[in-house]
Amino acid sequence: MFNRFIFFFLIWLYPVFGFSQEKKLVFIILDGIPAEELELANTPNLDRIAKAGGYARAFTGGEKGGKTETPTISAVGYNSLLTGTWANKHQVWDNDIKAPDYSYWTIFRLFREAKPSAKLGIFSTWEDNRTKLLGEGLKETGGFKLDFVFDGFEKDTLTYPHDSDKQYIQKIDNLVSYEAAHILQTEGPDLSWVYLEYTDDMGHRFGKSPQLSSAIELADQQVGRIWEAIQFREKNYNEEWLIWITTDHGRRAPDFKDHGGQSDSEREIWMLTNFSNLNSRFHSGKASMVDILPTLIDFLEVSVPEAQSKNWDGESLLNKN
Ligand SMILES: [Zn+2]
Repeated sequence: MFNRFIFFFLIWLYPVFGFSQEKKLVFIILDGIPAEELELANTPNLDRIAKAGGYARAFTGGEKGGKTETPTISAVGYNSLLTGTWANKHQVWDNDIKAPDYSYWTIFRLFREAKPSAKLGIFSTWEDNRTKLLGEGLKETGGFKLDFVFDGFEKDTLTYPHDSDKQYIQKIDNLVSYEAAHILQTEGPDLSWVYLEYTDDMGHRFGKSPQLSSAIELADQQVGRIWEAIQFREKNYNEEWLIWITTDHGRRAPDFKDHGGQSDSEREIWMLTNFSNLNSRFHSGKASMVDILPTLIDFLEVSVPEAQSKNWDGESLLNKN
């Protein structure tokens, strides 16, 4: 009887002190959504997450006119997030991803090296994110492997015939979001990347438009699934989850169709998270794409070789003291 009492007392103390609460993280890139359009759209799920933590405008593109100037192009932006460096270091200059400099480790490699038993996942509408940017299995990246891989559907033209309206991308995003939510809920990977593309397709085609707004609202529903999975995990397991959502670039004003250049609206991105203790840099509007990697590493509390962290161009946005 007494032992049972102690047992339940310790169980009761567990969440109070938070000791040995496992940290889990998912970051999501929603492609090419201008901050202004996001703020106008009806996004109840993103709003709920930001209410728990925070939302801020931020920038990408490196130093305009300086040596770190970085094209506001998709894969370039993803790789700045993944490596915490601008393009002059990571060497991804466009979506062809010809010769990334893998000596700048991605968050996946950093985490794998620090915790070999960690479970890593990718859920993505673009296979190159894994095969080229992360360089999964390549000898240049130490041959590291992911545990949960759900991507490549854009290459399956039998199941997803390529229509000019890009409805197939919308379908794949939806599938990816369902699978991400399912795996997060049932397996609880330690680190996951979810990438959804459809918003960028609507941006290129229609610019500022009802079509772009509805694409943003769809993405919000897809994120909502993942957020529910996280809440399930937190309720049923002794885990603390961080969700970090961002976009890879803005779009050129005033029509918001193109991107790639260095105009203010192309350089403008945004970030939102459920983590509430954010520092003044996050809220200043001066945070950037390369701050995300140090932020995620700060949350995960994994050790990183100094030879890697000294390359980082950004800093953590968390206020952990
Ligand atoms: Zn993009």
